[in-house]
Amino acid sequence: MVLCKQDLNDKADSLDVYITTPRFNPSNEEYVAVSNGLEQSQVINGINKTTHFKHRYAIPAYLIAIAVTNYEVYSHTVDNSGNPFDIVNYVYPENLSSAQASTPITVDIMNLYSNLFEEYPFANEKYGHAQFGWGGGMEHTTVSFMGSFGRDLIAHELAHQWFGDKITCGSWKDIWLNEGFATYLSGLTIENLDGGTSFKSWKAQLISSITSIPNGTVYLTDTDTTNVNRIFSSRLTYNKGAMVLHMLRKKIGDNNFFQGIKNYLSNVNYAYSYAKTEDFIPIMEAASGENLTAFFNNWLYKEGYPSYTIEWNQPSVNQVHIQISQTQSDPSVSYFEAPVPLRLIGALGETLDITLNNTVNQEDFFNSVNFTVASIQFDPEADLISKNNTVTLANNKSEIENNFLLYPNPAQDNFTITKPDNIEVDQIKIFNIFGQLLYQTQWTQKINVASFSSGVLFVQLDTSQGVINKSVLKN
Ligand SMILES: [Zn+2]
Repeated sequence: MVLCKQDLNDKADSLDVYITTPRFNPSNEEYVAVSNGLEQSQVINGINKTTHFKHRYAIPAYLIAIAVTNYEVYSHTVDNSGNPFDIVNYVYPENLSSAQASTPITVDIMNLYSNLFEEYPFANEKYGHAQFGWGGGMEHTTVSFMGSFGRDLIAHELAHQWFGDKITCGSWKDIWLNEGFATYLSGLTIENLDGGTSFKSWKAQLISSITSIPNGTVYLTDTDTTNVNRIFSSRLTYNKGAMVLHMLRKKIGDNNFFQGIKNYLSNVNYAYSYAKTEDFIPIMEAASGENLTAFFNNWLYKEGYPSYTIEWNQPSVNQVHIQISQTQSDPSVSYFEAPVPLRLIGALGETLDITLNNTVNQEDFFNSVNFTVASIQFDPEADLISKNNTVTLANNKSEIENNFLLYPNPAQDNFTITKPDNIEVDQIKIFNIFGQLLYQTQWTQKINVASFSSGVLFVQLDTSQGVINKSVLKN
């Protein structure tokens, strides 16, 4: 019998589980019982057997579990820097050989997570898998229940031992702290074991799922928490939660990201206890030194995703001009402030990856480049939740030229030049139709042409975006 508070604010300090079963099933195969923690004893009493499991870590009620059947049991040992523990697998006899082929990777994933974050939180006991008859898995502390033994499922359930089991979401509104993290760690497994190309495909799949509907929040409302399907929405809680973590990593950099997560896992207020989203955010702000309010507001608390329009040209050989605009799929966000990754591809196959910190519509960026840009690829590694993005080559310079006005035209005594505020003009040169330089000056708005002969005057402007040519008819 278990007496517990079925809530998300108080963990049991420890657990002793005694499971009494018949010793044998009707086919005379021995029953094997499994639960959280370490097996202490099996006491035989006539036709029955009592198995004792002991768990000495704080545990929330929903992570306590038992299972009994005619399991086959085998283990892998994790070295854990000289402090070894076992990964104990309880599998159906008919699945023994396939399970034995699939579970050894658990050791590699365990080592990966320990390296990226911290030691397995229950290293004094065990980790394990117990096969069960449902689809998917369930991350019971120290013994995940598994419908099958695919690598993604192994990675996801193991990830929960840190994110969900050691630190448990403090309310169902914060469920992404369990499921978004576990999903992201299954992606980190792909990144580290399979490489960047597979990781990119994985992220692209998530983005496609997230953007299949234009709205919905990661963080739940009170009403949402009464709807189990909404709590465990794969699109929002799992996929968008995971991609928000990835975008956070891209925004603040790998060092700050992983250090911040380590700080979160070891924080005395949350370790082996509960945490909410509002607890997580300041830890990441402290690790990065950045104010992340707008980032988390846009991506966790509000809805939808951006669609980008990228216009670019190369005003001079050493420079590329990129203008970024954005629309939003849901009106709750006025503008998604996000680093926008672009890959410049040269005429000879050169590549240059740049990330532009876009915060407002029609923002202009001028980047150095040492090759002729042939095309620009938007978000080449699938690092940004977005959809329906377009990249267009602005009609080289003509767009900028159109923003310069010379008037009156025709001009008699003088003409005036107006220019965009964000473009500097160094020199103005005036040529006649024979190419002779008639006049040269630094930037000035008004040019006196009273002394020049009648005819077309070519006006050359040396600007911060390259040379612009205009003409005026002198009467
Ligand atoms: Zn999960």
